Amino acid sequence: MAVIIGDTCINCAACIDECPVEAIVDEDDNPTGEEYYYVYPDKCVECVEHFDSPACAEACPTEDCITWDLPFTAEYKAHFCEGENYLDEKAYVCENADAEMPMRDDISIEDRQAHRSVVEE
Ligand code: SF4
Ligand code: SF4
Repeated sequence: MAVIIGDTCINCAACIDECPVEAIVDEDDNPTGEEYYYVYPDKCVECVEHFDSPACAEACPTEDCITWDLPFTAEYKAHFCEGENYLDEKAYVCENADAEMPMRDDISIEDRQAHRSVVEE
């Protein structure tokens, strides 16, 4: 991770085809059971080496819907793989807990913990 899609998502599909690594699934495939889009934290590359900024957030019409989350790296993996830290006190779902994903170094851990909006208005 990455970025996270919040519960203000309107299931409009604008983001899904923008993702270069197919990390996003729609409400029907959200493995947490929530009825909106989901980003697999172990697949999201923060668009590093693809775009200058996260393409999903650039395409999203809903203000503050896509926000920063912690990086899916060894140091922060417990956030995703242990406990109920996803929305509504649910657990994230990952397909490959061993993955080590790229992150944008210019986004601070504090901003990630605060779920700062990826696209600032
Ligand atoms: S930040 Fe990039 S890689 Fe991550 S979900 Fe969005 S479009 Fe996909
Ligand atoms: S573009 Fe935004 S509102 Fe539309 S499906 Fe994606 S996250 Fe949800």
